[in-house]
Amino acid sequence: MTYRIPFEQHPHPSPRPAAERDAILAHPGFGRHFTDHMVTIDWSTDRGWHNARIVPYAPFAMDPANMTLHYGQAIFEGLKAYAQPDGTAALFRPRANALRFQRSARRLAMPELPTDLFIEACALLVRQDAAWVPHGAEQSLYLRPFMFATENTLGMKPAGAYRFMVIATPAGAYFADGIKPVSVWVSEQYVRAAPGGTGAAKFAGNYAASLIAQTEAANHGCDQVVWLDALERRWIEEVGVMNLCFVHGNGSDATVLTPQLTDTLLAGVTRDSLLTIADDLGYATRETRISLQDWQSGCADGSISEVFACGTAAVVTPVGQAKTSTTSWTIADGRPGAVSLRLRDTLLRHQTGREADTHGWLHPCT
Ligand SMILES: *Cc1c(COP(=O)(O)O)cnc(C)c1O
Repeated sequence: MTYRIPFEQHPHPSPRPAAERDAILAHPGFGRHFTDHMVTIDWSTDRGWHNARIVPYAPFAMDPANMTLHYGQAIFEGLKAYAQPDGTAALFRPRANALRFQRSARRLAMPELPTDLFIEACALLVRQDAAWVPHGAEQSLYLRPFMFATENTLGMKPAGAYRFMVIATPAGAYFADGIKPVSVWVSEQYVRAAPGGTGAAKFAGNYAASLIAQTEAANHGCDQVVWLDALERRWIEEVGVMNLCFVHGNGSDATVLTPQLTDTLLAGVTRDSLLTIADDLGYATRETRISLQDWQSGCADGSISEVFACGTAAVVTPVGQAKTSTTSWTIADGRPGAVSLRLRDTLLRHQTGREADTHGWLHPCT
């Protein structure tokens, strides 16, 4: 079913001057500067989805009894628009994000936004703020759709009203000074997700709960935390807020392995895209269970040739070192591997329209 409601358009009376915007786009960093507009859509029990608008980016007042502040019904998404060779901008796989947003909503007892409305909200913001889509190598406009409760009460129940919003921030090349492998700390004390829990949802509380382990990783000199399964503390799940992939073998005989999806893994769009691309490039792929022991012994006997993390923000991040409370090891020679770099480059070529869009991944915003 196509679900359309008209968006009221309220263009910014004084958008940021071009010179200021261009200075930001030259060094955007990540998540620090926002575009001139934002999209909002409201939902209530009696009216459903209504009041769709694109308005100037601005703060808003919140009642101290806003339910989100107390009970945390808050979910989000992350996707990118890339400048294309013809000068237009395209979203990468927005339908996959729209469907995941619906799954997150369902888990948190929130209303499901129709996928067409999600995609149109994102495309509308990119159209309105087209001048904010950077054109530099590996640059993009990162979109952050999110939804939170707007009912004001301390009664403990699913809220009866919500707001969906989309904001956008220009994103620079993640590895501005060349691709640098990260080191990872295996968290033995904390878990990210448990069976029956919220790990498969992009739910704000998951990230709040993970910060302490990220701090622990930093205290041990590591960049990111590796999450093990909650029950046996044996199976590899994810790294930081990214999925994890392992490469066995070399050259055309390489196999790309990644933990199989369960309700304790976040199903990354990047993970899914890279599995498809690996297959396109003739590599074998396997979704399976991978233990911490397999990882360690595979590096010791040389059967694991590369390990990389993947997600929308950094695309592909090679992992060079791993550390636990009792031991540490290096993955191959600790440098980015050939298969990781080839997968990364091919995915970026798809995203920036330099590869035939055989999978229908690009959504034009025009
Ligand atoms: C968002 C996220 C990912 C990566 O998903 P992408 O769709 O590839 O960006 C992986 N793990 C967690 C926990 C995440 O929140």
